[in-house]
Amino acid sequence: MKTVGYAAYSSDAHMKPFHFERRALRANDVAIEILYSGVCHSDLHTVNGDWGPQPYPLVPGHEIIGRVVDVGPDVTRYQVGDNVGVGCMVDSCQECDQCHHSEEQYCRHGMTPTYGAPDRISGETTQGGYSKHIVVREEFVLRVPDGLDLSLAAPILCAGITTFSPLRTWKVGKGSRVGVIGLGGLGHMAVKLAVAMGAEVTVLSRSKRKEEEARAIGAKGILASTDETAMARAKASMDLIIDTVPVKHDVTPYAPLLDVDGTLVIVGQVGPMSEFMSVPMIMGRRRVAGSLIGGIKETQEVLDFCAEHNIHPICEIIRPDQINDAYDVMSKGDIAHRYVMDMSALSMEA
Ligand SMILES: [Zn+2]
Ligand SMILES: [Zn+2]
Repeated sequence: MKTVGYAAYSSDAHMKPFHFERRALRANDVAIEILYSGVCHSDLHTVNGDWGPQPYPLVPGHEIIGRVVDVGPDVTRYQVGDNVGVGCMVDSCQECDQCHHSEEQYCRHGMTPTYGAPDRISGETTQGGYSKHIVVREEFVLRVPDGLDLSLAAPILCAGITTFSPLRTWKVGKGSRVGVIGLGGLGHMAVKLAVAMGAEVTVLSRSKRKEEEARAIGAKGILASTDETAMARAKASMDLIIDTVPVKHDVTPYAPLLDVDGTLVIVGQVGPMSEFMSVPMIMGRRRVAGSLIGGIKETQEVLDFCAEHNIHPICEIIRPDQINDAYDVMSKGDIAHRYVMDMSALSMEA
């Protein structure tokens, strides 16, 4: 299947149109016309080569919303016309213990990311959602429930599941006290999801500049990390902190905010962290943990949860030819929403 997308041709070049082929349908494959594609901070890191060399040309994008246009003969769960999603992975071994208990993201043999990785069968490089079409085996296709706005749902597939999974793992519910560091793409979803689970949520940020935005999505308010008095007063007041900061930083100032047995979960920074002080960890049996997206079953759960609670990410819809401008804004940091590309604005003749 011929398709077109936006690709990075090298680590320092801008994104440009790229014509390529999607594989012919295997028996268990679903072919999807992509309608909306979210723009994740990790797309930017990946194409910039921040996480190692990449197989260029590379089409990023792992927050995909689309419509089924064809299915292989063995596909049972989807039919032409269904609204579907694809997130951060498109395959895994399907045989190990992790795959068997629906945590394909921790597959013993390594899951296949949606872009920039060899396909398990053909070895060709997977290409992501900044394109008109994608072909994915049905086990990695998600159903978009009625009630979700298709134009706003894409970021649930990365930003949503990345924050939903730790909230579930650490059993957040009514009365839980949750802190969220950073109010960007991940942070604002963490707030909305935790609030819907019944938690009392505080946003941690350098300043109170985004206080109104935090309150508007249900947080109690902002605790400014630069305000030493307020930080001291909030000691031992949180059960779980979701740390969405995407750059190297020190978690030491946040640790005392956790109650005994509390956990700070890193979901934003992939790479080295600053040295941290062990004293607050030891003095309260506090933990620093990490978490990677979520399994396919849990990704379906977060889509259904968002539909049920009418949760939509805050999105700014852009045309695919605006992607380079969006990257410029994102690389300067600090946006409290997600860019989502309307892929219908990309012509096959681009
Ligand atoms: Zn992502
Ligand atoms: Zn596996």
